[in-house]
Amino acid sequence: MDFAIDDETRRLLEHAREIGEKEVRPAGLEADRMGAPLPPDHPYFDRYVARGEGRTRWRGPEGQERPPGPRRTTVQVLLVSEEYAYWDRGIGVANPGVGLPENNVLGLGTPEQKERYLGPFVELDRPRWACFGMTEPGAGSDAAAIATHARRDGDHYVLQGAKCFIGNASRADWILVQATLDPSKGRAAQRSFFVEKGTPGLGDFKIEKKMGLKAYESTSFRLDECRVPASQLLGGEERNRSKGGFKTAMRTFNAGRPVIAANAVGIGRAALDEALAHARETDRLGDPRVRDRLEAMTRRLRMARLLCLRAGWLADRERPNIVEASMSKAMAAGVGQEATSLGMELLGVRAARGDHLIEKLHRDVKAMDIVEGTGQVQRVIIARQLVQLPR
Ligand SMILES: Cc1cc2nc3c(=O)[nH]c(=O)nc-3n(C[C@H](O)[C@H](O)[C@H](O)COP(=O)(O)OP(=O)(O)OC[C@H]3O[C@@H](n4cnc5c(N)ncnc54)[C@H](O)[C@@H]3O)c2cc1C
Repeated sequence: MDFAIDDETRRLLEHAREIGEKEVRPAGLEADRMGAPLPPDHPYFDRYVARGEGRTRWRGPEGQERPPGPRRTTVQVLLVSEEYAYWDRGIGVANPGVGLPENNVLGLGTPEQKERYLGPFVELDRPRWACFGMTEPGAGSDAAAIATHARRDGDHYVLQGAKCFIGNASRADWILVQATLDPSKGRAAQRSFFVEKGTPGLGDFKIEKKMGLKAYESTSFRLDECRVPASQLLGGEERNRSKGGFKTAMRTFNAGRPVIAANAVGIGRAALDEALAHARETDRLGDPRVRDRLEAMTRRLRMARLLCLRAGWLADRERPNIVEASMSKAMAAGVGQEATSLGMELLGVRAARGDHLIEKLHRDVKAMDIVEGTGQVQRVIIARQLVQLPR
């Protein structure tokens, strides 16, 4: 592995730092103090779109493709994700764009689906969102247990079920909903469906209460006899016969784990900086008990970062990274939590008053251990790979 940061990556990081300080941290703090997600018409989102951000990686219909944009390596994506999370992790999810389902649509979508669902994200005329709806009240870690049901009815599918904790759902132009054709057939029967905003039967949106990451909405909703044309089955009938819908859905999560790990490192770094600044202000850097803890935390955060980068480095070479991806997330989420706990302890009553950044970081970081596979689930995945535990 080459540990040098090239000029291009340095430029990306400097840009992230500048926007992070000027735009991202203030917007995240505003949402946290309001105790509610930033509304879709917040000027922060208009400025984001005006900077040309939030665009899809899709290059346009066949024969009229745009020239390829600069290709970001996974390692670059991880470094930049860490930097943005340093300033505010919740804003990273609140940002307009296709978000989580983009890889699935790029990988499996038909040309018509790409045009219809990614087309509006080529040049955003306004802040637009999409989202991916997997989790249900009875199916979190065990995503194979989802009960939302899709029934074929002529040239439509009828969806019935409920989803929860779905990022950006009530503001999304469309939701890629994971549903099963036959609950008795487990994973093999799962498929993804585009459900467009305003479709009759899609409703009961309720923004969940969250302890942290308040900048973006995590929303529950219902699908009640919700009819969608058969053309809205991701990939169409033909491709679903050859490629499993569940496997494609899980690919999203495998790709996302090192990013969540990098986010945890970023939050941890922010906490460490707050702890260091406080120790300096209160003249306690000379105290060996304080100094040793700050040193240990710095060391552990750097170790976690190296694990993330290794997972990304393997992905860039198209080499299997399942163990490294899970290890990076299992480790970084824990280290991030240790860093914010250390900050809380060192800042003492200053932190406990509830109006200091460290206290917000402490609430924000916990979700890094939950989303896209909890720490326990990562450890099960690692063990399965290393000692071939039965599935
Ligand atoms: C802030 C936030 C944002 C989210 N955003 C999204 C989103 O955008 N889209 C989406 O689809 N979902 C989203 N989720 C849902 C998230 O993916 C689930 O919360 C997560 O998968 C865990 O599921 P659960 O909460 O139902 O916990 P459960 O699966 O019920 O787990 C409860 C506990 O049991 C443990 N456990 C479960 N199975 C095992 C096992 N096999 N071995 C050992 N321990 C186990 C878990 O580690 C956990 O500690 C979000 C959640 C949060 C908190």
